[in-house]
Amino acid sequence: MVEMSMKIKNENFYLKQDIQREPLNETNFLQNLEVEHNASDLSVNSTYIHQMFEAQVMQAPDAVAVVFDNKYFTYQQLNQRANQLAHYLQSLGVGPEVLVGICIERSLEMVVGLLGILKAGGAYVPLEPEYPLERLSFILQETQVEVLLTQKRLAQSLPTSRALICLDSDWEVISQQSKENLVCETTGSNLAYVIYTSGSTGQPKGVMICHAGICNQLWWRQNTFPLTTADKVLLSFSFSFDPSVWQIFWPLSCGAQLVLARPGGHQDSAYLVKLIAEQQITTIAMVPAMLRLFLEEREVDACKCLRYVFCGGEALPAELQTHFFTRLNLDNVLHNVYGPTEASIDATYWCCDRNSNYQIAPIGRPIANTQVYILSAELQPVFVGVPGELYISGAGLARGYLNRPQLTAEKFIPHPFNSEPGSRLYKTGDLARFLPDGNIEFLGRIDHQLKIRGFRIELEEIEAVLRQHDCVKHSVVMGREDTPGDKRLVAYIIPSQEQAPTTSELRCFLKERLPDYMIPAVFIILKSLPLNANGKVDRHALPAPQPERPSLQTPFVSPQDPLELQLTNLWEQVLKTYPVGVRDNFFELGGNSLLAARLFSRIEEMFSEKLPLATLFQAPTIEQLACILQEKGRNTSWKSLVAIQPKGSKPPFFFVHTKGGNVLGYRSLAHYLGDQPFYGLQAKGLDGKQTPHTRIEEMAADYIREIQELQPFGPYFIGGYSFGGLIAYEMARQLQAQGQKIAALVLVDTYNRQGLWFEKVSLRSKFSRHLNNLLRLTLKAKFAYIKQKLKQGFYLPKQSTISLQTTPLQAAFDQAIKTYVPQAYSGKLLLFRATQQHKYWSPSMKIDSQLGWSKLVAEGIEIKDLPGHHFNLLREPCVQILAESLQAYLDSMQASK
Ligand code: AMP
Repeated sequence: MVEMSMKIKNENFYLKQDIQREPLNETNFLQNLEVEHNASDLSVNSTYIHQMFEAQVMQAPDAVAVVFDNKYFTYQQLNQRANQLAHYLQSLGVGPEVLVGICIERSLEMVVGLLGILKAGGAYVPLEPEYPLERLSFILQETQVEVLLTQKRLAQSLPTSRALICLDSDWEVISQQSKENLVCETTGSNLAYVIYTSGSTGQPKGVMICHAGICNQLWWRQNTFPLTTADKVLLSFSFSFDPSVWQIFWPLSCGAQLVLARPGGHQDSAYLVKLIAEQQITTIAMVPAMLRLFLEEREVDACKCLRYVFCGGEALPAELQTHFFTRLNLDNVLHNVYGPTEASIDATYWCCDRNSNYQIAPIGRPIANTQVYILSAELQPVFVGVPGELYISGAGLARGYLNRPQLTAEKFIPHPFNSEPGSRLYKTGDLARFLPDGNIEFLGRIDHQLKIRGFRIELEEIEAVLRQHDCVKHSVVMGREDTPGDKRLVAYIIPSQEQAPTTSELRCFLKERLPDYMIPAVFIILKSLPLNANGKVDRHALPAPQPERPSLQTPFVSPQDPLELQLTNLWEQVLKTYPVGVRDNFFELGGNSLLAARLFSRIEEMFSEKLPLATLFQAPTIEQLACILQEKGRNTSWKSLVAIQPKGSKPPFFFVHTKGGNVLGYRSLAHYLGDQPFYGLQAKGLDGKQTPHTRIEEMAADYIREIQELQPFGPYFIGGYSFGGLIAYEMARQLQAQGQKIAALVLVDTYNRQGLWFEKVSLRSKFSRHLNNLLRLTLKAKFAYIKQKLKQGFYLPKQSTISLQTTPLQAAFDQAIKTYVPQAYSGKLLLFRATQQHKYWSPSMKIDSQLGWSKLVAEGIEIKDLPGHHFNLLREPCVQILAESLQAYLDSMQASK
């Protein structure tokens, strides 16, 4: 019976022998390494990272080793500097198994620092300078590092209870040391680095990686994807994530060139494309989300120099793979790599193939000296096609987690199929299955670990930190992908007090404790958490975030000019939040680097202005960004046509300004019209620079010229509110005279009565009220009051009284109204009427039920009543009713065109 079941298992699951194409062992791995580097005199010990590098220094000392900006070090220069540092470190007691912290920005000094630590025999602990101080302090405390390498600029803000060495300002002292290579006392089982990754207990955990694992990784790479001295490898990952290890040491161990992306540049796809093309980079790595942005860059085909593109960290969708082939048309270049930090970077790989039929790119087969098992909960191998947990064993396994013996024992279990003493399996927490062809397919996670933009996050860590906040009783954090391709962290909070914390407070609190990528994009306050039958939180029943603006400390300010308006629209689309205020911080609204990249590519499309992504860190609000764009002179060609909501496949709707001249008040209407492209027409002269038109006919002709740049031929969809209706009417007439078709003409509470605007408004009463207000104010406040009233001139007559009488624009409009005599129009008209009375404005239909248009419109007037007065038709809640009715009308006209 036992024999029988073993037989079945052997036929249906893969053990390491089946899935390894070229089984390798320690001996042939080292032999191969020696052949590769043509260094037969090297002993087994001489195969550690820094010594592979030294072998290259001997071969080509003057070759360029590392490039950053316009600076570089040759192999010789880099080696000598690293040696000086290593000698210095040894004088401080650094040697095998000694951890050395390094907190430094990406720079040539960073590479000197890492090599110096390894050459001294120590292991490095990377500390990302951008991490909050609390996290850095925790890591320093836990690792007990005695020596910390840094830069002068960062030194003041770091805890000082250890030897701080500034690789810039202290270099004079370090350079007194010998430039000669050191005697290496490292062995394969000594630590090379400790990288911290998110921990489910509320604190990050340090993964201890030994030299043997990392050497195996580099050897596998070089043997599988041979680099030559002509290759250039881009360092695009932060050194606190493990792919940076191969990005730095692979080129240096085989005579190729290492190119450093500038700090922050790894998140800027436009910058990456430029750098790759300029430097002729051949080897890069990206997480899928970044690859997507990269491929969207217009100039990406300038990157045909790429020989190896490694994509990993998250599942690679088949569609992204296809996109790669469409955009770059390069075969055998894209590789899906998979591996946890605990397995010394990558454990499996698959070469993407444009002819494959996989829905998700497989993660392929194990790398050299690595075995992969897919096991059931009982640690039994599962059948081909059956999902199970993925376990890894082999050369790459980490020693464990620093100071966490219990966690180490939980995750690194005794090897059930290998009787060699000390042999272990790493329990990845990943769900996977074998495909019939022997490749492995990644299916997701078993636990609450999550990948967002390639960052590994334990949700429990965020929850634990949130619970430390006084006002938080409970919290649940989850990753949601309510819009495909847009995975976000959402935090659900049960407050401990009546007064719930604001989003700004929570964000600030987390920012002091967690790296940016772990801060939720959205915070939702709930009264209670939904529970399932077992009394556990039912994550599926948690509500999806609404697109509302979160509770911020910054007061809401709406856009003040067309440029701000256009930017606001872009922000709302990218952040999927409405409304966005011009003083809101992009990152407080849930923005991140990928969304920033998306925003900037839209800005480029709209304004033909390519801004570096870093701009958003200096100018994180719409107001500030608008200033930068203005300084760049983008506003020199002033236009009447404003794209309020340009997205969508329907024909555009053009809506003309009111007597205020601007179109800022049309945002809500455009918003409620959803995917209806909506363009406002603002008045010439609104900027105070140009001379305004004084005749409706001129305005109409001017606006027609502009809309025809966008839509040269009809049928046109046109409308206007109040005074704007007159201009829209005239535009429709002039377009008809050109022989164009009008699909829809829509007037919102527009009268055909000359001078009616002023007849109905009691100027006397308005003047006396403003006068009273002004008399109570100081001189400075008087100016502010007048300025404010002028700005607000759009909706209410009480606010527009002064401006109506004083600005050149209003004077021009008054003249235009007085002289305009509408002529007959041979189409149809949709007329919205206000039904409520306003103090200064009678219900429109009392004057004439068709507001004076009946004799002019040949094909009839359709009338729709709105439950508001003349001045609030475009405000909540009336605007929603208007939008609904208008959309139905536009759609029906579109269908019958
Ligand atoms: P890290 O330790 O940050 O490298 O994260 C390792 C985890 O990322 C793995 O356990 C997987 O959950 C996930 N991962 C890495 N590479 C891939 C890949 N190519 N496809 C799917 N998931 C991946």
